[in-house]
Amino acid sequence: GFTLRTTLDVGAARSPGTVALVFEETELTYAELGRRVDEVAAGLDRLGFGAGDALLAVLPNCVEYVELFYAVATLGGIIVPVNYLLSPEEVRHIKVDSGAAWIVVDGSMTGLLSGIDLSGTRVIQRGDDYQALREQGVLTTRPQVAPDDVVLLQYTSGTTGVAKAAVHTHHTLMWNTVQQVVDFGVTQRDSYLCVPALCWAAGFHDFTLAAFWTGGRVTLLPSRSFDPARFGDLLVRHRVSIVVLVPSVLRIILRSGLVPAAAWDSIRLLACGGEALPVELIEEFEAALPGVWVMQCYGMTEGPMIMTYLDRDSAVRKRGSAGKAMSMTVIEIRRSDGAVADPGEVGEIVVRSPASMIGYHRAPEQTALALRDGWLRTGDNGWLDEEGYLYVAGRAKDMMISGGLNVYPAEIERVLLRHPAVREVAVVGVPHETYGEVGRAHVVVAPEAGVTPPELARHARESLAGYKVPRVWVLGAEPLPRTTSGKVLKSKLRELPKGTSD
Ligand code: AMP
Ligand code: MG
Repeated sequence: GFTLRTTLDVGAARSPGTVALVFEETELTYAELGRRVDEVAAGLDRLGFGAGDALLAVLPNCVEYVELFYAVATLGGIIVPVNYLLSPEEVRHIKVDSGAAWIVVDGSMTGLLSGIDLSGTRVIQRGDDYQALREQGVLTTRPQVAPDDVVLLQYTSGTTGVAKAAVHTHHTLMWNTVQQVVDFGVTQRDSYLCVPALCWAAGFHDFTLAAFWTGGRVTLLPSRSFDPARFGDLLVRHRVSIVVLVPSVLRIILRSGLVPAAAWDSIRLLACGGEALPVELIEEFEAALPGVWVMQCYGMTEGPMIMTYLDRDSAVRKRGSAGKAMSMTVIEIRRSDGAVADPGEVGEIVVRSPASMIGYHRAPEQTALALRDGWLRTGDNGWLDEEGYLYVAGRAKDMMISGGLNVYPAEIERVLLRHPAVREVAVVGVPHETYGEVGRAHVVVAPEAGVTPPELARHARESLAGYKVPRVWVLGAEPLPRTTSGKVLKSKLRELPKGTSD
């Protein structure tokens, strides 16, 4: 059948000598990349890795990440990208929840495995171990892999306080990719600069696979810290035509002044999404770079990665809209009773697409809540105008987006409640100049405990990724405002004047 491996084979067959993948000083042609994938697959196969086995990738952006992704897919296995910004406790949860018995880890990230019981787990270090893996020959017979086999567990946090995995099959990812090719006319002439870390859904789902499938070029930006000057250099060096940025990064680029206007000359598609794109930022961008078009898009890990986009002809007329649905995606707005809302009426955004996940891993209740009759509930609010343009209008789910990264207050609250001095806690997102939103924690503490914000921040950091730790703290002894049913009134907390220290 046609599986993810197909997306690499086309380029290898048609234009084996064309550059497929670039990372720092390494450039691999389609033939070379295909061969390396078959080497890694042979090595994994030798070690006993096979269909249905899950492998954790604890890696920064690198050539090996792409090789592994395809090698695992070729063998019918399941890749589990690990966000390296997470804490060891959070990584342990992913290891246990996914049931993965295989890990490939970069030397700089082994600390993330410190909380994990590794008995019965095969750990492959990115350097020498990985090299040895590649010296076992080339995979000659590929196992049968079905298009509906699971290939990816993409962990994403949630309102339940622990991360859960969106389950994607070969086909859901391939539909996601076909849709991008159709809607954006991706061809072999395209050069895609992959800015996101490959461990995030946007890494492989946004144009990486589309560029491979069409025989284009993928250049990986080094992950971990975003360097605007390097970004600009790569735009020029690889005549980049497609790039996807979160608004926070777009803002950093503009304000840094380190990417000259000429660097954008080869760009034909600058997609911006993952969080609301404020109209002022679009205007700031247009003033700095007249002639370059920022395309707002809206999507999610559960898929499709791009569900709507605002086309160029409507960019001015429909400013502020996230645009219309992609070609293989249907969007509806639903009232709380499930009925379809009228144009102009705010409700929950629901989506139907062959690119949506098939469910959450080992979480039937969460799956049943998210997927109903073939529709995916996004947990976002929005409305459609008479012409079908979507306006995202806040969220039904309790989530904030800080620097482009989703943060779920439930996770932070769960961890803070474990602190002995904490009686009650509620975290809300508040606007922030650079990050879009940051967390503000309202904590009810025992007055005699003498606990301070830095101590609570330290406590949070022990269990949580740094970007999830609240920036603003409001400590008090008064109980939090609640509804009669006992739910914290977060809307009320959001209105409160700004809190105390950082
Ligand atoms: P993720 O799964 O990390 O891709 O996050 C998906 C969520 O990001 C969505 O459910 C929205 O809440 C938010 N999001 C993505 N794109 C936009 C956008 N253009 N405007 C507002 N929110 C967005
Ligand atoms: Mg996101």
